[in-house]
Amino acid sequence: MNDILPPDSARWEWLEGKVRTLMDRYSYRNIRTPIVEPTALFVRGLGEVTDIVEKEMYSFEDRLNGEHLSLRPEATAGVVRAVSENSMLYDGGKRLYYMGPMFRHERPQRGRYRQFHQIGAEALGFPGAEVDAELILLANSLWRELGLQGVRLELNSLGQPQERQAHRAALIAYLEQHSESLDEEARRRLHSNPLRILDTKNPGLQAIVNAAPRLIDFLGPESLAHFDRVKAILDANGVAWTLNPRLVRGMDYYNLTVFEFVTDQLGSQGTICGGGRYDYLMEQVGGKAAPAVGWALGVERVLELLKEQDKAAISLAPDVYAVVPSISSLPVAMRTIEQLRVLGLSIQMHASASADGSMGSMKSQFKRADGSGAAYALVFGDEELTRGVVSIKSLRDGVGAQVEQSLETVSLWAGNLQSRPTN
Ligand code: ATP
Ligand code: MG
Repeated sequence: MNDILPPDSARWEWLEGKVRTLMDRYSYRNIRTPIVEPTALFVRGLGEVTDIVEKEMYSFEDRLNGEHLSLRPEATAGVVRAVSENSMLYDGGKRLYYMGPMFRHERPQRGRYRQFHQIGAEALGFPGAEVDAELILLANSLWRELGLQGVRLELNSLGQPQERQAHRAALIAYLEQHSESLDEEARRRLHSNPLRILDTKNPGLQAIVNAAPRLIDFLGPESLAHFDRVKAILDANGVAWTLNPRLVRGMDYYNLTVFEFVTDQLGSQGTICGGGRYDYLMEQVGGKAAPAVGWALGVERVLELLKEQDKAAISLAPDVYAVVPSISSLPVAMRTIEQLRVLGLSIQMHASASADGSMGSMKSQFKRADGSGAAYALVFGDEELTRGVVSIKSLRDGVGAQVEQSLETVSLWAGNLQSRPTN
């Protein structure tokens, strides 16, 4: 679990800002659900025989009433619960997005944390392939907005439960033939949840898994037609994809379309975003049946990739550093600074660093001003203030150039400054 500190936190805010803008363009609305949910929600929703439910959840008993609770390991189950409890689909489908921390007790390693953050988009109440495609286009345009490169899209279809049933039998028969080569976990899941074995991270099992019967070969015409509609929309939009018949995802709630966005630049934790259709989850967690589809991206991994690609270099420099040589100047200086802030300027004011309250030498204040990266220093010197002016010193272009402005008109000067670029 990490502290997220400046200047890194500015990159988080930058990313979140990009996401908000984009979600609005696609007409997805923000939803905020609790971080703690009943454990049963995740057990029922994600599936009992999944890594998350078997060993990754932070679960505890409420000391007051003995309720079984868990920190959310993902947000889809909570969103589905909220949509159902609040009857949000009464007047049609809903497009939603969220951002926030998730918790999984995993072995910490690069790109894998115990408190990590996801941004997710969910469309509930829509059965058509066009919404699967819309969500993929949304994620894809996010990579474009962020300037990310080298993100690949992998697609698969998990079909419908009855098609999975037929595949399951074939898969179990195949895996039984190789049972002596399976690891302990795979052997345990052989009869409870064999599809999960295809998701194994054990490199020693890859050959067996690669040659296993493919679910896609068991799909009927309707499932295939749904998949084709998704692919046709992606193709029409020039979104490249590859079929990955081994793609099953980590939760049991998916059906039909599943997808992942992957990169080769983050080592073995290369999936930055994953999702798919989950038409049965609503009913599974006790709501009225409703189709749904969504994805979640890992914020830490996306930021790591941005760093890898030297994107999202964010400047925390204020526009102005206010140099205030003496305490007696503070009231006038701070009144002026407040006026300039109203105009939108970002201003870092020099503050006393010593217990006696003295403001420090001009030299040390200018050192701070330079260090802040500000383009200008406003110097509220005693002598200037008695004349009703403040001096403005350029710290970047034409360093040292100094002009005086009347305190009455300094807002005019501020208004002429090139407006601060919004990151
Ligand atoms: P993985 O295969 O990497 O374990 P997952 O299938 O468990 O991922 P999801 O539950 O689909 O992942 O979560 C969506 C995204 O959240 C992942 O693609 C990844 O980017 C991110 N993510 C998942 N687990 C973690 C974690 N422990 N730390 C950081 N990011 C994570
Ligand atoms: Mg995982």
